Amino acid sequence: MPETSVSSAREILTGLHDVMASRSGAQAKLNRVVRIIAEAMSSEVCSIYLLRDGVLELFATVGLNQSAVHVTRLAMGEGLVGTIADQAAVLNLDEATRHPEFAYRPETGEELYHSFAGVPIVRRERAIGVLAVQHAESRAYDDVEIEALQTVAMVLSELIAGAGLVDKAVEAVGAARDAGSLRLAGLRLVTGMGRGAAVYHQPRILIEHTVAEDIEAERHRVYSAFRKMREQIDTMTNMAEFGTAGEHQEILETYKMFAYDEGWSRRINEAIDSGLTAEAAIERVQQRTRMRMREIDDPLLAERMHDLDDLANRLLRIVSGRLGTAAQMGLQSDTILIARNLGPAELLEYDRRRLKGVILEEGSLTAHVTIVARAMGIPMLGRVRDVRQAVGEGDDILLDVGESAAFVRPGPTIHEAFAAKLVVTQKRRAEFAALRDVPPVTLDGERITVMVNAGLRDDVSALDVTGADGIGLFRTEFQFLVSATLPRREAQQRLYRSVLDAAGDRPVIFRTIDIGGDKALPYLRVDNGGEENPAMGWRALRLALDRRALMKAQARALLEAAAGRELNIMFPMVSEPWEYEEARALVEGQRAWLAGKKKLLPSNIRYGAMLEVPALAEMLDLLLPRLDFLSIGTNDLTQFLFAADRAHPRLAERYDWLSPAILRFLRRVAREADAHGVPVGVCGEMGGRTLEAMALIGLGIRRLSITPVAVGPVKAMIRSLDRAALAPAMAALLERPPADMRGALSAWAEENGVSIG
Ligand code: PEP
Ligand code: MG
Repeated sequence: MPETSVSSAREILTGLHDVMASRSGAQAKLNRVVRIIAEAMSSEVCSIYLLRDGVLELFATVGLNQSAVHVTRLAMGEGLVGTIADQAAVLNLDEATRHPEFAYRPETGEELYHSFAGVPIVRRERAIGVLAVQHAESRAYDDVEIEALQTVAMVLSELIAGAGLVDKAVEAVGAARDAGSLRLAGLRLVTGMGRGAAVYHQPRILIEHTVAEDIEAERHRVYSAFRKMREQIDTMTNMAEFGTAGEHQEILETYKMFAYDEGWSRRINEAIDSGLTAEAAIERVQQRTRMRMREIDDPLLAERMHDLDDLANRLLRIVSGRLGTAAQMGLQSDTILIARNLGPAELLEYDRRRLKGVILEEGSLTAHVTIVARAMGIPMLGRVRDVRQAVGEGDDILLDVGESAAFVRPGPTIHEAFAAKLVVTQKRRAEFAALRDVPPVTLDGERITVMVNAGLRDDVSALDVTGADGIGLFRTEFQFLVSATLPRREAQQRLYRSVLDAAGDRPVIFRTIDIGGDKALPYLRVDNGGEENPAMGWRALRLALDRRALMKAQARALLEAAAGRELNIMFPMVSEPWEYEEARALVEGQRAWLAGKKKLLPSNIRYGAMLEVPALAEMLDLLLPRLDFLSIGTNDLTQFLFAADRAHPRLAERYDWLSPAILRFLRRVAREADAHGVPVGVCGEMGGRTLEAMALIGLGIRRLSITPVAVGPVKAMIRSLDRAALAPAMAALLERPPADMRGALSAWAEENGVSIG
């Protein structure tokens, strides 16, 4: 096969165009098509298999025995052809027989041919057939050849549909949707419950015409669509500048980068050169992006590719005049939104009052859109593979992410169970919401400080919703994680200022960036020699002290944002006191520099350290006199105390936060901090669980910073607790620890009427 160039793809497409326009019957058309392709690509064999009654049947061929036509049939997943259709994937083989799925069919006479390339023929996102070429000599097909085949397959799908050859089973996908209720399983991305009618984020854009009549006209359509899309992105970015989208601006900047990417528009132009319409050319390039997406291992890079996919959809909508996403058309009633994937900006376009949940075919815990959904409080279920096949527009859906499930067209029993569970959840939530303005005071009059953990601009609203005392942990690295490029000092400063503005006179404790290790940033090149154990590696303060420019920029941003007010700043993963001293000196250096420039400074700076590395506990006598506060990060601390990876599923339940070792350790730290008169709090997940929070208070801890949804339950617990009675009970339990400390503490809570929930 010679080099297949754009011109040969174009030659084929011109040929196919004539075939489509001809009056001959379907079979004659297909016979002509295989001849055109084989000739243009100089292949000895070209065959088309089409799905008939769910089985792939050889419909037309040159090169294979004609007697095999309508005789050779392969089930989905059977042989090379069945594998291509089943996985909607490309096969490119220099020696077909070596492939494990190769199925020899003697009637075809294909033993003469060594190399094989096949692509799926796709309609409505399902394979309806396979286009394959074969060659006698053993050779691999290059990317240009494969892409030419894919382009041709796209046009073939239109021809096949036009000829009425699409398998009835495929056309009748909708029929399967009436098959009664079903339960779809998925991955818990944002926990919660929601009920609504299914709405597809994007009305499916079915490409009517794939072959261009006038290439220049198609090129013009794409140009103006690109112009329009860039305008839209610029407008969204400018809106973000004015604060409506907070830190999502960084995400929009990724969009902007792609929208102006010359490589992308060039590839679309090349597809137009080969003879495709604007729509088909965009989709063709999008298919290629999706293929690359499947191959990418790096989650952050894959996320960027999703952003590009997101933009391609937008471009497709613009060029085909179908501008409205479901968001733009407005949600009519309570909605469960369905999408293959969503960009974060797209999610933000929805009316929050009507959006009750989201189901994604893809999605991951660290995706931008998941972070945004969490901030918006919208339940989200991911990795629901068959959602498109199973759910029709308008179908009734009950989403219970806690159960990792979506119930589609549920029957009355499921409805009742769901409603009962929802009532309980809502009642409990209402009871907790009623505690918003009541202070967390124990029965014996001890005021406990309950603050929230946050990381995004939108999280700050949790302060007002929960009535929390402030933000006890603001994870500044979130802004870095959702950003395509290193956030500039101005962007950091804008975020910090808006958080302080929203918090008013409630304190906000900013933790300096905790990146590195597993929180890798693609735009930050770190030469860490390949870490085997990133949690214990070059991360957090260790990295920040080595990358001073980064830390200085953040310090400046914090100091400027807090001009005229109090700044609380804490450093993560302090392992030895000198690290704290250096970090503090660095911030002080920036303060002196700003003072020299006669800039307005914070009225007061309070410095704190996080205790996450056990070694620091041995040095508290030296460190505490230098601190304004100490915050215990129990997530990292417990993984280091037990030498048990906090993300390892097998270890997830092996060690308990309520183990005597942890509790004794925490008691010792709390006592030492008290002795030095330094306020000490807990900001790990542990404090957000009612029984654990009770135990912490029993140890003498009076400050908690927890996830916002836990504020209500923890407040209720505090208000039902007699701390004076708990303290000696805890002391006794720690003196002679029972085998089941958790059980003993629950029993105590129950006997003493403490609300554990
Ligand atoms: C912790 O380790 O407990 C903590 C609060 O920090 P992070 O969870 O962000 O590591
Ligand atoms: Mg930590």
